[in-house]
Amino acid sequence: MITRFAPTPSGYLHVGNAANALLVAWLAAQADGVIALRIDDVDATRARPEYVEDIFDLMAWLNIPWAIGPRNSADFTSHHSMTRSTERYRSEVSAAQARGLDAYAYACACSRAQVTAIPTGGCPGGCRGLSLPLVPGKTALRMHVPNGTDVIVGSRVVHLDKVMGDFVIWRRDDLPAYHLVSVIEDRDLGTTHILRGEDLVESTAAQLLLAPHLAANSVADATYLFHGLLVDEDGTKLSKSVGTAGPLTRDDAMLETVIAAASRLGAPLGILRPT
Ligand SMILES: [Zn+2]
Repeated sequence: MITRFAPTPSGYLHVGNAANALLVAWLAAQADGVIALRIDDVDATRARPEYVEDIFDLMAWLNIPWAIGPRNSADFTSHHSMTRSTERYRSEVSAAQARGLDAYAYACACSRAQVTAIPTGGCPGGCRGLSLPLVPGKTALRMHVPNGTDVIVGSRVVHLDKVMGDFVIWRRDDLPAYHLVSVIEDRDLGTTHILRGEDLVESTAAQLLLAPHLAANSVADATYLFHGLLVDEDGTKLSKSVGTAGPLTRDDAMLETVIAAASRLGAPLGILRPT
């Protein structure tokens, strides 16, 4: 059994992220499994060294052991940063194209403003019929999500064409997109259990749709568990909150808060604090 904690170093981790990390650890402990730490810094424009440091510091504070992944910030920067793997991801896209991805994916030239104008995302400009070339700075590669695409994610059905539409797998700025990276990394890791917040159900559906094109049967076959999300005092979901000003206070009171949150979110999934 292999599971993973996969934070993004684009801000300091909040209580919800800490609770997710703890739940991953409890799940692994329950199943006698292995934890991988994967730091997703593909969007290097938002990643900062202090956020990477915060991840290692949080793992140490919560006493979470991981067998796979970077050991510390220096190891991460030298060997594990995803910014080092752009060409590897590019070759994965080429391999997928050789297997017939082009019947499903297409280059989209729509501007960000055009795309954000439609609430579900997707390509608003009909680029799919245009057979545009994929050109850095000019086009992104999108995965087509046909009408009526229902993806089974755990115990749920996601109507992916309605909630997300055609999604980007290679960005206009010539970088791999999150969904592509996530599938490839979970495939290579051999992840068997993926535990995420409920805000990632739709993303998971996109990744399941993409998985066969990346020869990632293990990703399609993995067990998916989703926990609820914590809310702020004003009812805002923590996962949507932008950048807390600094790292979580590493004291006993905060530790109790994180443990209580993980206990509450894990209970419906049968994930319990080890005794
Ligand atoms: Zn388009």
